[in-house]
Amino acid sequence: MSRKVVGLSAGFGAAGAVVLRCTYVDSISQAGAVPVILPPGAPESAADVLARLDALMITGGDDVDPALYGASAHPATTHVSRGRDDFEIALIKAALARDLPLLCICRGLQILNVALGGTLYQDIPSELPGAVRHRGDGARHEKIHDVEIAPDTLLAALLGAGCLAVNSLHHQAIRDVAPGLAVSARAIPDGIVEAVESPAQRFLLGVQWHPEEFWNREDVFRPLFDALIKA
Ligand code: MN
Repeated sequence: MSRKVVGLSAGFGAAGAVVLRCTYVDSISQAGAVPVILPPGAPESAADVLARLDALMITGGDDVDPALYGASAHPATTHVSRGRDDFEIALIKAALARDLPLLCICRGLQILNVALGGTLYQDIPSELPGAVRHRGDGARHEKIHDVEIAPDTLLAALLGAGCLAVNSLHHQAIRDVAPGLAVSARAIPDGIVEAVESPAQRFLLGVQWHPEEFWNREDVFRPLFDALIKA
């Protein structure tokens, strides 16, 4: 049986480079599929790209353009790339239209929410001063807060319901949840949205933490990638 092919969105780095952390690639390879990096391109090409893929992952990165959800830029919102935003939104909409399995990580969860009509907090420390620390400054796999996973959700079926420690590398977060998305995990104790899903899709899951950072460390988050491939 031929291996499934999973598209991974990417961002722009220094010196005009297209960049994606290897941990995303390694997580997909470990799950037994072939990762293909998708550089930001013309939104009109998204449907043609997806027609050749078995699943899609929208990866982490810099801040989403707040104009996409009707907000003006907060001083802490940086490194906006409208080209990446527009391409990823087109990929997400095309994937949902095809009912293609879709896993969204960190910024990926945020732009999923924006693509479907939701909004974001642009800077947790200044807009939600009572929140726990969500942007770690140590190792990327350092678990710095807990999440509460709701029972009877896709996420609970994969990782178990209840309390789970996660890493956290974000300063933005979901504000208004988009229509069609259900919240399946929140941070403890501040209640910030840490996962969304949609029972209406074959497989649609977004997580605010970074499960890919654990691919060679522990197996706790591997079911997310395995389920994306098997969906
Ligand atoms: Mn967090």
